[in-house]
Formats: sequence, structure tokens, C-alpha cells
Amino acid sequence: MLNRIDLRGRTTTPAQLRAIVPRAEMDVDAVLHHVRPVVDAVAERGVEAALEYTEKFDRVRPASVRVPASAISSALSSLDPAVREALEESVARARRVHADQVRTEKTTQVVAGGTVTEKWVPVERVGLYAPGGLAVYPSSVVMNVVPAQIAGVESLVVCSPPQAEFDGLPHPTILAAAALLGVEEVWAVGGAQAVALLAHGGVDTDGTELAPVDMVTGPGNIYVAAAKRLLRGLVGIDAEAGPTEIAILADSTADPVHVAADLISQAEHDTLAASVLVTDSVELADAVDVELKRQAGATKHDERVRTALTGKQSGTVLVSSVDEGVRVVNAYAAEHLEIQTRDARAVAERIRSAGAIFVGPYAPVSLGDYCAGSNHVLPTGGCARHSSGLSVQTFLRGIHVIDYSEDALREVGGKVVALANAEDLPAHGQAVTARFPR
Ligand code: NAD
Repeated sequence: MLNRIDLRGRTTTPAQLRAIVPRAEMDVDAVLHHVRPVVDAVAERGVEAALEYTEKFDRVRPASVRVPASAISSALSSLDPAVREALEESVARARRVHADQVRTEKTTQVVAGGTVTEKWVPVERVGLYAPGGLAVYPSSVVMNVVPAQIAGVESLVVCSPPQAEFDGLPHPTILAAAALLGVEEVWAVGGAQAVALLAHGGVDTDGTELAPVDMVTGPGNIYVAAAKRLLRGLVGIDAEAGPTEIAILADSTADPVHVAADLISQAEHDTLAASVLVTDSVELADAVDVELKRQAGATKHDERVRTALTGKQSGTVLVSSVDEGVRVVNAYAAEHLEIQTRDARAVAERIRSAGAIFVGPYAPVSLGDYCAGSNHVLPTGGCARHSSGLSVQTFLRGIHVIDYSEDALREVGGKVVALANAEDLPAHGQAVTARFPR
């Protein structure tokens, strides 16, 4: 079922591997011309323009952008108790893990009388995007809100597309998740118009102010990514999330039933989702193919799954050894990487690039999506080579505080002057010598 790429016996550099191994492509540039007018209109005409585009793309017009407090609280009271319990567990585990990410202020005594302190200050107001197109993701509300709250962000707004079947409100599970997390401000707006409204702010239909945010985080489709690209700078962004992806590094000890189930679970997100198996066992690859056909036929979103699995972004990569497999997955830098090999922990230690690593047979990606405690907003498209997933750190700014005494400055002043002159910036040196006229 999966395309097959045979790397056995081939010598490849990491750069070649990046080109050979299948990858989902998302050409954000190609939709910029489509998204720019949306962003410009919202910048100019605020809520009025955002609602026009909402009507056009979401086929519904909410009475106001801001969701009434009563709708948020009633969504929580009518939430299925089993889902509520699961969300509470998800929140509790995420809080435990993210609480350990908090950095403490550190002061370094550089010389006698000279210190540099690094203090961590939360971003003041953040907009958290929870997707709501093909599927709704209350789990993304948890994964965005928990690190922001632990970082100490004071003002949070959750944005999610309005749904026609819920009278223009975001999906009730999104509202319930917000209520559970103590988020009071939710806006019913999605896509590029949501990112633009978060960045520029506006005045709601009832005359209340929708204050602009300093930062926008959260996953979304190509239009959300394009709007983030256009507005980056005016606001901070976490990343331009591309289609989701899983790579599984497996050997003959892996269970093909589990491997196939995990590849399908990722393919279920999106027809562009990438499911990649890297293995040194042809027997496993064959058995996984058989299982994929069997399981895909029985899954709810079978058409979406088949399209994703047979797309050019998905495939099986045959390698001659697990060692070579490690090279391949390090070059690929998957958003999610599962290790299903003998001695999986030792193999996992050799992974240098992945958004998150799932070790052994009992850590499927869906555990991380909901209830592992880890964050599921992760770098896609190979960005794990240089970036990390969402964390408390995403919402903190490190500020250096420089505190030098007269003596400490005098002692190093000559060196500042020498470097300033070397850069042909003599006024820089004079800013020091002016303090010591004699
Ligand atoms: P979405 O909320 O990102 O997008 C829906 C919005 O797109 C709508 O509100 C609509 O206004 C806008 N839109 C629809 N068609 C448009 C058009 N033709 N032109 C302009 N705007 C248009 O929801 P989605 O579409 O389901 O996408 C969610 C994405 O987020 C998926 O790719 C999913 O895989 C990804 N995701 C990633 C993670 C992660 O952690 N990486 C988690 C959850 C979801």
C-alpha cells in the first residue's frame, strides 16, 4: 500500500536523504496572494471584514466575535462526563510536565562589581489558535493554554472557527476545554482572518474592544500558516505548522498490527499527512502493508486515510540496518518519531532530530496527542532540525539585566574602546571614556 524506497546498499549524505525520503509539501507561498487581501482587509476594517470572510469560508456569521461567557460555561456543564474526565487527566499530566520547564532567574557575577542577570518575563497577551475545520481539537486548547499559563501569561484568548451547526459558536468541546482551563476569552473566528484579528484587534459587533495580542500560537491549515507568515513581526508566532507527520523506525521485532495502526492514526488527520515507515525488515514492511489494507478499510475516515497513505508524502524506506535507519530518521527530522526496535531506549538516545520521540511498543503517538503529559504542538516539515515544540519557554522572553559598578566599567573600558575603534564606531568608545575624563 505504501510507496517503497529501497536505500539498501546506497551511500547517501544527510542532504540527499532529505530529498529522497518522502515528505509532505505545503507551499505557503502559493496561497499568500489569496491570504494577503484577507489580512489587509482585517487590518483596515477589523471585525466587519473578519465576519465577511467568515461568512465566505465558514458559511456562518456569528452574532459577535467574542463568545458569551454563558456559552463557555454551559459547554462545560453539558460536556460528556467521560470526555471531561479525559480532558482533566490530559490537563493534569500536561501541567505536571510543563511545570518542570519553568526557568529560574540567574545572576552571573562576571567580575567584582559586574553582574549579568537573565530574567524571564512572560509575553503579556497571547492568542491561541485551536483548529476547527476538518476536525476539532480540544486537545490543542490544552496544549497551547497549559504552557502559556505556567509561563505566567496574564491575558489569553482562544480563537477557533465558528461552526454552522452550533449557531456560529466554536465547537462545544473547544469551549468546554477553555472553561476547564479557566480561559474566559474565546473568539469565534478561524483561518487567516482569525490570525489577522488577533494581531490587529478590533471592535466587536456590540462595541466592546477586542484587544490585539503580542503573540499567536497554535496549529492550523495552510491559510493560518500563510497569515502567520504575513503578520510575523507585528506579532510573535510559534511556527508555521505544516501537515502532520509520523516516522516509525522499526525492525523485525515490531508488531505490524501496531505499526499499521500508528501510521493510520496519523493519516487520519489530513489527506496531506505523512506516514513513513523506516525498516531493515522486508518481512515487516510486507506485513505492515497487509495490515494497512485491512485496518484502513475498517476505519471511519478510510478515504482520507487511503489518500494520505498512498500520497507521495508517505512510504516505506528500506534500510540495511537499524544504524542506517537512525541516519535516515535523523535526516528526516519527523514531527513524531516512534522507535519500535530491539533495545528501543538505546536507539532513541541516538536520535538528534525529531519533534518528539515515542519509545518502544507502548508509546504510540496518540498517547502524546492527548495524555502523555508532553506537548503535541511540534515542528513539522523538517523544522525539528532547528526548532522545538511548544513549551513554557515559547511564552517567555529572556531579558539580560546588566549591572556594572564604576570600578568594573573602568577596568574593562580600554577593551570596549579598542573593539569600538576596530568596528569604526568611535562614539561607542567615547560613551565609556566620557565617564572617566581624567
Ligand atoms: P483550521 O482551523 O486550521 O482551518 C479552518 C479555517 O480555514 C476556516 O475557519 C476557514 O475560515 C479557513 N478556510 C477554509 N477554506 C478556506 C479558503 N479556501 N480560503 C481561505 N480560508 C479558508 O482547520 P483545518 O483546516 O482542519 O486544519 C487544521 C490543521 O492543523 C490540519 O492540517 C491538522 O493536521 C493540523 N493540526 C496540527 C496539530 C499539531 O500539533 N501539529 C494539531 C492539531 C491540528
